[in-house]
Amino acid sequence: MSPRAELREIVGQLKNLLVSYPQIGLELHMPSRERMTDPSAGQSLPTDLNALSAFIGDCKRCKLAEGRTRLVFGEGSAKARLVFVGEGPGAEEDTAGRPFVGEAGKLLTKIVENGMGLKREDVYICNVVKCRPPHNRDPEAEEVQTCLPFLEQQLAIIKPEVICTLGRIAAKSLLGRDFKITQERGKWFTFMGIPLMATFHPAYILRNPSDERRLKGLVWEDVQKIMRRLGLKVRRDE
Ligand code: SF4
Repeated sequence: MSPRAELREIVGQLKNLLVSYPQIGLELHMPSRERMTDPSAGQSLPTDLNALSAFIGDCKRCKLAEGRTRLVFGEGSAKARLVFVGEGPGAEEDTAGRPFVGEAGKLLTKIVENGMGLKREDVYICNVVKCRPPHNRDPEAEEVQTCLPFLEQQLAIIKPEVICTLGRIAAKSLLGRDFKITQERGKWFTFMGIPLMATFHPAYILRNPSDERRLKGLVWEDVQKIMRRLGLKVRRDE
């Protein structure tokens, strides 16, 4: 194994260990992330969302900038108790400059509004990378690494009570290890000391119409766990 691969494996194991702490009842005290820095410039990142968005500006810190139409910063309440994190903008999001506005976005909005009884603007919705990967490919590790501090700063500013990652890539990016969405969805993890649950990406449900009913049922199970954690009333008729 090369020294680089070995180092990557050690870091992955360390992250797994830290993720497992809350599950075995140990408190994990994370350092404050409010003074996170822009990795490309070493500057402290702004501590409110508008200023952070302005700071990111016309970002060209990774190669995803080359193919994007519009950068998708994220939207919703700055005081959201729940933040949804997808992997990256798709074609419609890239055109609109807003997260989750296509068909998958409509399904997410239904989950939030019809399922959870919240308004879309009550939660915060964003992605791991803020620019659309070409042909909707998965973001590469280097792109995730470059963009992730901005998401971390958004989370540090919002301070949600729960993060819900959508799809395997978002969970993998935040937890820093491979993630088996079919086996690990619906379980609690932590990121930056914040409880995190992964569920299926709405686009995955839409891509599997023959399995739609079952997948929606599983997502609803996960969403109910999040609702209970947030103290929201779960309606029985969903
Ligand atoms: S994906 Fe993130 S780091 Fe890359 S160009 Fe877009 S905003 Fe910058």
